[in-house]
Parts: sequence; C-alpha cells; structure tokens
Amino acid sequence: MANKQPEDLMSSRYSRQVVLDKIGPLGQEKLAESKVLIIGCGALGTNSANLLVRAGVGVIKIVDRDIIELNNLQRQILFDEEDVGQAKAVTAARKLQKINSEIEIQYLIKDINSRNIEEVIAGFDLVLDATDNIPTRMLINDVCVKHSIPWIYAGVLQTNGMVLTILPDGPCLRCLLPEIPPPGAMQTCETAGILNAIPYIIASIESVEAIKILLKKDIERRLIIYDVWDHRFDLIEIEKSDNCECCVSRDFKYLNEENKEIVAGLCANSVQIIPPADRVIDLRKIAVNLEKSVSNMIATEFILKFRAEGKDFTIFKDGRAIIKGTGDEGVGKALYSRYLGL
Ligand SMILES: [Zn+2]
Repeated sequence: MANKQPEDLMSSRYSRQVVLDKIGPLGQEKLAESKVLIIGCGALGTNSANLLVRAGVGVIKIVDRDIIELNNLQRQILFDEEDVGQAKAVTAARKLQKINSEIEIQYLIKDINSRNIEEVIAGFDLVLDATDNIPTRMLINDVCVKHSIPWIYAGVLQTNGMVLTILPDGPCLRCLLPEIPPPGAMQTCETAGILNAIPYIIASIESVEAIKILLKKDIERRLIIYDVWDHRFDLIEIEKSDNCECCVSRDFKYLNEENKEIVAGLCANSVQIIPPADRVIDLRKIAVNLEKSVSNMIATEFILKFRAEGKDFTIFKDGRAIIKGTGDEGVGKALYSRYLGL
C-alpha cells in the first residue's frame, strides 16, 4: 500500500464515524462547531475528554483543581508515571492536543465555586460532570438550569455508575436529590474503592449522550445505571418534581452567597473547611467507612481524628474540618471531598 500524504491522513481522521449513518458529514461538521466543558479531570473526565477529542468536538475545556497522584494511574487514562505531581488540567490538555491537533483544547486549573462558575460555563453548548462530589454537581445544576445549558450528570463508585442527561426544563438533579446529603453520608472512591473498568464504561455512555445532544438527536432521558461486576443494567424514569426549587421555582440557592462553601486558611500549613450550612453528622459512622483507608484514627461522638495522604484531619460534629499539612485552600477542599464525601 502506498504511503498516504499527511493531508489524506487528516481528511480521513473521522472517516469511520462520518460513514456511520447516525453522524454523517453534516454531523461531523456540527461536532466541529460545538463547545463542551468538562468539569473534573479524574477517571470520568480523562475518559470522556479522550473520546470527545478523538470524535472531533471543536472546542473542549477541562477544569480541575487537583494534582496527579500515583493512585490515579489505576484508572485515569491520560496520565502516566512522569505526570505524578503535575496539575491534572494542563497535563490532560497537552496529551489531548497531541491526540488531535485540529481542535481547540482549553484548560483551567481552578476550584469551581459559586463565585466563578457562571463565568466558566459562559459560551459552552454542553457541560459534562466529571466531578467527585455533590455540592459541585448542585452548582452545575443551578447554573446550567439558570443559563439554559444542557449538562450530563455522571458518577462512579466501586463497580457501578450512573448517567443522567439534564435539560434546562428538567427534570433536574434537584428533582432527584432535593438537598445535599450531610458530610459522610455518601461513600467516596477513597473509602469504598473503585474498579477501573467502570469509569471507562460510564464515561463512554456520557460521551455518547453528549454527541447525541450536540447533534440534536433523541436523547436518553432516563437515569442509566450499570454494574460492571454483575452486568446489571437499569433505566429508571425520573419524574419532574412539581415543587422543585431549581427547575420549577428557579431558586438557584447553591449559587447564592449565603449558601456557598466557606474555606478559611488558618495558617501556612493548615486549612479549615466549613460546610455550607450547620448540620450534625454521625462521626462514628464516618469512622467505620474510613477504617480501611486512613491511619491513626480516634473517633468519639464529638470529634474524629485521622491521618491520610500525609495530612492530619480533625472533623467536628457540625462537619467543620481542620486539615494540617497543607496551606492550600483548593487542596484542603479536595481532601475534604475525598474523605468526607462532600
Ligand atoms: Zn428540578
């Protein structure tokens, strides 16, 4: 076979999906004109970005506050050993640009919060959730409903995961989950573990739904749940709640000042995290969940202390935490979500 010229290679990059009747040449053009924001660059973010970049979405922006750790390599497809210690968003963007130099890849190393999220999502056609915590998803939900941008919720834990496409007229995430559960009520990948195949599958489903939205095809409105261990697949109808505060009353409370998470640096080497509202949490229950993943744990009814990732955590009954070993607010919040599931 004769060697192909570079121009031929470029023009044939998308040939296998252009020939697919569900996409075709017009669909490919539409993808090239689309802008997708991916919030979070862990297992879901790296996998969905990888697929959408290869599919030829015109502009993709990756937002993440974390740095790459060795334990990420088990499932986060864009990173290798040399990347440990680097910021996720920029490292992913560099890899993605090597995969496809024809599209625009943007990145932002930032903690997403109520102060900056409206500016970050402006101008995008679609937002993909690849975060690891409910408060950020509630913010994404508020801001996307407010600004009429579709978004796709995705979550993974242990051997299962779920995907829900949310259109601005609802049903929205708050129809399904009206309030943020208290810290420690939900398990996290740090405490419950994760099999590396499940984020690949869930991110693949998320990217297919993303392409369907961008091409204005019929989308799946049901909640998709898949367990890769038992191969259990469920599709669940989600009803729009008549009194949903978000998609019906348009009360975007997670974007409001008084509900935002407060993070205060204490000194150079510790941060204090104060969750959005006063709440009482069950410290002993959290201690049971954390048992296998942390050390030096002391749990009483009023206080929980433990050591993880070289940091000393002290958690109080109202959800407040002091983390010693970092003076960086973003790192403190990331550690808090990882171990407290908020
Ligand atoms: Zn709703």
